[in-house]
Amino acid sequence: MACPVESRNRRGAAQRRWLAFLGVVFVLSFAASCSSQKRTSVSHPLLPYHGRFSDDPRLSSLITRLLEALDPAAANVSSSLGLPVNPQSFRYRLRESSENRRVFEQHWARTLHLAHGPAIIELEIEPFLLDITDLLPVLAHELAHASMAGTLGSSYHDLPQWLQEGLAVHAAGQSDDKVRRVLRWSSATDTDDLLDGIHGKEHTWKDYAEDALAIDSIIRLGGDDAVVRLLEELVGGIPWKDALEKTTGMEWGSFSDYAKNAAAAYYRRQAGTERSLLGEGRVLLADEKYEMSIRALAPLVLDRDTPYHLPALFYSAQAHLELGDFEAAEGLFDRALASRELPPEYYSKALYHSSRALNALGRTAKEKERCDAFLVLARGDREQKNVCRTLAGP
Ligand SMILES: [Zn+2]
Repeated sequence: MACPVESRNRRGAAQRRWLAFLGVVFVLSFAASCSSQKRTSVSHPLLPYHGRFSDDPRLSSLITRLLEALDPAAANVSSSLGLPVNPQSFRYRLRESSENRRVFEQHWARTLHLAHGPAIIELEIEPFLLDITDLLPVLAHELAHASMAGTLGSSYHDLPQWLQEGLAVHAAGQSDDKVRRVLRWSSATDTDDLLDGIHGKEHTWKDYAEDALAIDSIIRLGGDDAVVRLLEELVGGIPWKDALEKTTGMEWGSFSDYAKNAAAAYYRRQAGTERSLLGEGRVLLADEKYEMSIRALAPLVLDRDTPYHLPALFYSAQAHLELGDFEAAEGLFDRALASRELPPEYYSKALYHSSRALNALGRTAKEKERCDAFLVLARGDREQKNVCRTLAGP
């Protein structure tokens, strides 16, 4: 785990600008609360950032938005959970998403609970620098984690993950969004995965929806103020299973069955209107796919030559294809295919889908070339091969 307090003595113009800016913002924002402190003892809620976007002109606006979002995000969390939330009691850090990411459901924020000192809320810089995702709910979600941990102390870490995440999603107002994403992004084979109950083993991005629906179950059983009452019990030192039973009138085993059935019923109800996993199988609505591609595109936009973001390029191309923007799709597929670094599992798919784009553009010679290459690689299912044979002709 990274050290939360970094040296403030390093030199460099970028850092001086950063600290100067932070100093101004900090003094303006927190002058009242800090008036009794000596200036030298003031610690910044935002930890210094020395990364490769230090000189990016968008950085100062991101910092402003971040500082402005702290109080509204804290107010949301406080009213949802009934807990005091002081956003100045935590530290915030911007970090780059440097991982070799091939999945795009990963989180863009996390809270580090340290043994000593305030929790650190880390935000990945790219999507926020590009302003392509809402800062407020992401910040509220992390503030919920940090505040619950701060108030409950070590007993917070005894709470099961479904309860930690469900409460954070609820406090951040993300429940509908989590459920919608799961319904639209999952395939039919995920059914067991999705409805594996809130005591499931490994927690993945798909579990947030079931966590959120479990909180809905708590409210249905315990009334509108059930979440606040549950937190009061926990703050009072009651073990979580007892607190849950006091709040819902159901012991844990019955509650987890109830929550699972309620989630299944919800998914079934959605099946008709959302063409969800229980209905039509994999649903990739163009707008959702596009949204996903934009998420994936974030690091690509900032660093166009980074080879490990080629899957992002692929998904962006596919999104453009599904939206009917064939020229853009073909351009992106071209770039992906021109790279020797495109992961093999994407290569034949890129050949196949680019041939569809070329077909739509009437560029038959290149289309035939792509289809031939696709058929040689012989990846993909039979249906794709037949489509390619039909497209490319004899
Ligand atoms: Zn979380």
